[in-house]
Amino acid sequence: MSDRRPISRIVIVGGGSAGWMSAAGLVNAVGPSVQIDLIESEAIGTVGVGEATIPPIRTFNKRLGIDEATFMRKTQGSFKLGIEFKDWQRIGHSYFHPFGQYGAEFDWVPFYQYWMREKLAGNITGDIQTDCMAWAAAKAGKFEPPMRDPRNIRSRHDYAYHFDATRYAQFLRGYAEARGVTRHEGRIETVTQNPDTGFITSVATNDGQSFEGDLFIDCSGFYGLLIQETLNAGYEDWSHWLPMDRAVAVACKPHGPTLPYTKSTAHQAGWQWRIPLQHRTGNGHVYCSAYETKDKATQTLLDNLDGSPLAEPKHLRFVTGRRKQSWSKNCVAIGLSAGFMEPLESTSLHMIQYGIMRLLAMLPDADMSPLLAQEYNALTRAESERIRDFLILHYHATERDDSEFWNYVRTMPIPDRLAYKIDHFKRHGLIISDERELFNNPSWIAVYTGQGIWPERAPVLSTMRLEVPVKERLGQVRSAIDEAAAAMPTHDDYLQQILKTS
Ligand SMILES: Cc1cc2nc3c(=O)[nH]c(=O)nc-3n(C[C@H](O)[C@H](O)[C@H](O)COP(=O)(O)OP(=O)(O)OC[C@H]3O[C@@H](n4cnc5c(N)ncnc54)[C@H](O)[C@@H]3O)c2cc1C
Repeated sequence: MSDRRPISRIVIVGGGSAGWMSAAGLVNAVGPSVQIDLIESEAIGTVGVGEATIPPIRTFNKRLGIDEATFMRKTQGSFKLGIEFKDWQRIGHSYFHPFGQYGAEFDWVPFYQYWMREKLAGNITGDIQTDCMAWAAAKAGKFEPPMRDPRNIRSRHDYAYHFDATRYAQFLRGYAEARGVTRHEGRIETVTQNPDTGFITSVATNDGQSFEGDLFIDCSGFYGLLIQETLNAGYEDWSHWLPMDRAVAVACKPHGPTLPYTKSTAHQAGWQWRIPLQHRTGNGHVYCSAYETKDKATQTLLDNLDGSPLAEPKHLRFVTGRRKQSWSKNCVAIGLSAGFMEPLESTSLHMIQYGIMRLLAMLPDADMSPLLAQEYNALTRAESERIRDFLILHYHATERDDSEFWNYVRTMPIPDRLAYKIDHFKRHGLIISDERELFNNPSWIAVYTGQGIWPERAPVLSTMRLEVPVKERLGQVRSAIDEAAAAMPTHDDYLQQILKTS
C-alpha cells in the first residue's frame, strides 16, 4: 500500500450559511485531528437571505445532534409543510406543493393513479391537494410532526423549516467554534498557488494574516473568490431557461397566525415569496430585469406585504446556473460560489447540505485524487440539472399570457429530459423519476396538475382493478384527513409548546 498523507488543515473562506454549515458538518465528522480555519469579512457581509428549506435539512441537523426546540428558538424558526403557488397557472388559481404523500395507499396501485382515474372519469371534484395531509393541516394553520405508524393518516406529511438566515449562521458558528473551528475576521486579498500544480497553498487577508491549508472550501458566495477568480472553474449560464436575475427583499411585521407554509405569488415578471417566522415575515420579489424595472419590482413587493416593512428593501443580483467544476484541484465550492438556481423551491441550502455530505463521503487525502473530484463534479452536475428541470417546469407549464415575460417562458424551448418527462405524464399519467431524484412523485404531481398539465388517460395499472371501490375509499381518506387536521394543534400552539422545552 502506498503511504497516505491525510489532510491536516482545512481552510473555509466565507461565513454565510454555506461557510458555517460546512464548518459545522466538517468538524462534526472529522473531529479534532484536522485544523479548521474559517475566514469571513464583516465588511463584505453575507447575502442575508435563504430562509426556507426542504425536509432533508432535518437530516443535516440530526447528524449534527442539534435539538429541534433549541434550533427553533435560536433561529426564530417556524415549521413548513410545503409551498402554496398562487397565480402561477393563471391569475386567481392556487395550488399546493406538499411535503409528504397524497392520501393513503389502498393496495399496490399508487394513490395518485387511482385519484387520476376517478378525476378523469369525472367522479370526484377538487384538486389532488384536497387529499393531502400536509395541505389539510397547512390551510387550517395546524402543525404536528408526522406520526411513526405508517397506517395512521397522521404519518403522511413531512416538514421542513423557515428560519432567520443570519441567526442560523450564528447558531452554527457557536456549534462549530465549540468543537474547535477557529474563526478569523478579515478580507482575503491574496491567494497563493503552487507554481507547478496550481493547488492553492494559502490565502492572506488585508491585515497580514495568512492561512495555509491542504483543502480549501470556497464559501465566498457569488464572488467565487477561489473557485473562479483564482482557479477559473467556469460557469454554465442557465438564464435562457431560468431568466430571473434580480431580487428585492424586505422583512415585514408578522400579521395574524404564523402560517406553516411558504407562499409564492406570481407577478408580471417574476414572483414573490412570503416566509413566516416567529418575529417577522420574510418577503422578496424575484424578477427578470429584461422585463421589469428595479423601481416597479420594489413597488410590487411593497404593495403585496402583509404588514409594514421593517427596513429598507435590499437589492440582489445573480445569474442562474452552475459552476462547471465545483471541485477543482484542492478547492471545493459550496454555496452560492458553486451556482444558484433561484429560490423557487428552496433548494440552495439543500445543495449546500449535499455538497458537504458528498465531500465527506469522498474526503480526499492530501494528494487530492482527481478521480474523487471527477465523481463529485459528475454527481453535482446531475443533481443541479434535475433541480433545474423541476424549476423550469413551474415557468413553462403555464396558461399565463398577460405579459412578455410569461409569453417568453411559456414558449421557450426546454431541456430534452424535461420534455421527455412531461410527455410521459401527458400520454401515460406516469412520473418519470431519475435516480436520486430530490423531488419525488408527489412533487411532480403537484406541479404538473397545479400548472395545468393532465394525462390524456388514467395510468393503465389503475384501470385493472375495477372492482376496487375507489370513490368510496377516496371519500374515507378525505374524511380521515379532515378529522386528523381538526385534531392537530395550531402551528402557533405547537411552536409555543416546543419552545418551552428548549
Ligand atoms: C434572493 C435570494 C433568495 C434566497 N432564498 C433562499 C431560500 O429561501 N432557501 C434556500 O435554501 N436558499 C435561498 N437562497 C440561497 C441562500 O441564500 C444561499 O444559498 C445561502 O445563504 C448561502 O450563501 P453563501 O454562504 O454561499 O454566500 P454569502 O451569504 O454571500 O456568504 C459569503 C461569505 O463570504 C465572505 N467573503 C466573500 N469574499 C470574501 C473575502 N474576499 N474575504 C473574506 N470573506 C469573504 C462574506 O463575508 C460572507 O461571509 C436565496 C438566495 C437569494 C439570492
